[in-house]
Amino acid sequence: MSAVSVLHQASLRELNTFGFDVIADTLVTIENVDQLAQLMQQLKTDPQPLLILGGGSNLVLADRIPGVVARMAIKRWQPQIDGDDILLWAGAGENWHQTVERTLEQGWYGLENLALIPGTVGAAPVQNIGAYGVELKDRINRVEVFDCQQECLKQLSLDDCRFAYRDSLFKSVEPGRYVITAVELKLSRKADVQVGYAALQAELHGQSTPTPEQVFDAVCRVRRQKLPDPAQLGNAGSFFKNPVVSAEHCQQLRQQEADLVAHADPSGGCKLAAGWLIDRCGLKGYRMGSVGTYPQQALVLVNWGGGDRAAVEQLAEYIRRKVVERFGVELEPEPRFYP
Ligand code: FAD
Ligand code: NAP
Repeated sequence: MSAVSVLHQASLRELNTFGFDVIADTLVTIENVDQLAQLMQQLKTDPQPLLILGGGSNLVLADRIPGVVARMAIKRWQPQIDGDDILLWAGAGENWHQTVERTLEQGWYGLENLALIPGTVGAAPVQNIGAYGVELKDRINRVEVFDCQQECLKQLSLDDCRFAYRDSLFKSVEPGRYVITAVELKLSRKADVQVGYAALQAELHGQSTPTPEQVFDAVCRVRRQKLPDPAQLGNAGSFFKNPVVSAEHCQQLRQQEADLVAHADPSGGCKLAAGWLIDRCGLKGYRMGSVGTYPQQALVLVNWGGGDRAAVEQLAEYIRRKVVERFGVELEPEPRFYP
């Protein structure tokens, strides 16, 4: 077994997409399942807090991270082809967007709407990533995990994972119990494109049956126009979840705001566009010191330089209060605050 790479007092500046200056007590890089098991064994004899880190694109980190940060770098690419159906095991440390690109190059379809989402394959099930009407749960068969409670490797079925809107077993039911080591994706050589979102339709100029490659290109173009590239401007994507309110509350809001952006939710209520609510409070492009909301998409909080978790928390609290005052709607952050 290869030795685990260990760094002390390590900078995580390049490992969190907000670009905060963060120092981790100990940073280890995990390249295979044996190294992960070995780390878990060490933490049993010498208990310390543990953060599993992917690409750091859904995290709001404090200035100092105590204990151990384990960066997942497990690689795996293991397809099983049966006619038009493909089951593909991808390692937790694979880059998500490169995985999407690589499947399309093979003519294996299904992930095109999920293009350009930063981060790793292993983190994708944590919040059941979604975009443009497709969620990971629609494209997944099983998840391989290391169960930290039972100290063994396991495979979890789709039902076991308890996927919900930007949520899962890993995020809210039993956070910290499982480390995802690989994900089995369910793909097909037959195209079944999802182009229901207006922004995507507009980019495809009303084309009714685009190819998955065209959908991929359109998603990339729309995202590049609307979202900041973390390599240029620190951010963690959508900062708040889209809130779901009752049909009555939605009706009431519609009387107040005729152009309210709301979509039917499976619960029977309405999913409001959090970005629209923030925009309507006059906060699109708003700046508070080193941080602010992105001028093209108010839902994205950005670090203009020198920002930190405290600055983002202060801005988020201000936005949350303004939205409650105007609409009576509570916004809940999407990224994880650690510690
Ligand atoms: P990290 O931020 O490193 O970790 C996120 C959480 O997952 C943490 O709690 C971490 O401990 C845990 N975790 C990470 N890896 C593992 C593992 N192997 N096992 C167990 N737990 C693990 N999200 C969407 O859903 N849709 C989008 O369209 C989208 N667009 C985005 C656009 C931008 C510009 C940015 C910056 C973010 C966007 N996101 C989006 C959010 C983010 O990219 C996703 O949530 C992504 O899956 C996070 O991956 P990561 O590897 O960076 O995870
Ligand atoms: P958008 O197209 O401006 O739409 C605004 C919101 O309305 C979206 O959040 C979306 O909800 C919802 N919506 C739009 N059309 C819908 C439809 N036909 N049915 C149901 N809901 C609909 O959104 P955007 O900000 O540019 O983002 C585009 C997509 O990328 C969205 O799916 C968004 O979730 C995803 N994205 C996510 C992140 C993140 O960090 N989580 C960051 C950037 C983009 P949903 O969010 O439920 O899809």
